[in-house]
Amino acid sequence: MADSPDADGGACLVTGGAGFIGSHLAEALLAAGRRVVVLDDLSSGRLDNISRLQGDQRFRLVKADAAELAAVEAAAAGCRVIFHLAAVVGVRAAVETPVRAIRSNIACCEAALEAARRLGCRLVLASSSEVYGRGRGMPLREEDGASPGSPETPRWSYAAGKLACEYMAMAYFRQYGVEVSIARLFNVIGPRQSGRYGMVVPRFVRQALRGEPLTVFGDGSQRRCFCDVRDAIRALIGMAESPAAAGGIYNVGGTEEISILELAGRIKELARSRSDIALIPYAEVYGEAFEDVPRRVPDISRIGRLLGWRPEIPLDETLAATVEFERSTAGA
Ligand code: UDP
Repeated sequence: MADSPDADGGACLVTGGAGFIGSHLAEALLAAGRRVVVLDDLSSGRLDNISRLQGDQRFRLVKADAAELAAVEAAAAGCRVIFHLAAVVGVRAAVETPVRAIRSNIACCEAALEAARRLGCRLVLASSSEVYGRGRGMPLREEDGASPGSPETPRWSYAAGKLACEYMAMAYFRQYGVEVSIARLFNVIGPRQSGRYGMVVPRFVRQALRGEPLTVFGDGSQRRCFCDVRDAIRALIGMAESPAAAGGIYNVGGTEEISILELAGRIKELARSRSDIALIPYAEVYGEAFEDVPRRVPDISRIGRLLGWRPEIPLDETLAATVEFERSTAGA
């Protein structure tokens, strides 16, 4: 393998690279012949996620807080691209540790942007469909703006932090010419996703495999479009490679819509589980002031025009792979 950054397509830094999406991304970049530095403080990322990469001499793990500029800058030295995925994620974290969720996400993003500015790296920033709030019309389009709900509702603190990151990224693009592009990820799922932060698919899969009731919040009529992590990282890598992506925001999501109640049934079937499906009032889970998103569907025509990207992996295939992964790691 060549050592010059150009010959190997450029080394990459993945902040949050021991997490669910980050570890899949690091793996794909290595498979494409890149050198990869992962920066992760392992607060929610797991060594297990990257253990198979650690034998590869083109791979390096830096255990550090992504909010520390000096650490990020040192890790990014020699890299052509920074993928910024480090974040406090999930609705549960936004509700239970809101100060951390806002402060840390903004601080980490600023460090990634500043390191990119100093080193001349291209940057892909992972944002979230949460920034659309309850949405103004479906499908959700980038040009329609973003509006998380009222600050009086705890859920939206995550979205507010991510939106601040997006504004800061655009400011770095305009003021300093940093080639940053923003991916708004819609309900990315797949093997290695943790259920600890409230995400529905890994929770249902584990519940189904343990024979516990599948906990559907509300009446289960809320709808989502899930996106396989392999499709999502194809979009992130494509964005990094496209000069035209700089200064732009791109929805990255699936198009197959499903209600959460239907999802529970589908997972039960795929896991051949005899679990019950339990409807749990939101107030019991998140307290009275909780507000869910009734429907979230991305318009993906913008990234389609940029890269020709569209999701390819059907939902059932992703769910089956997730069931298989959880079955094989049960008790691990
Ligand atoms: N959800 C659920 N049961 C769970 C976890 C989540 O019914 O055990 C619901 C949640 O209320 C939401 C949907 O599943 O309507 C997706 O939740 P997730 O946290 O995965 O992502 P979100 O779309 O809320 O960001």
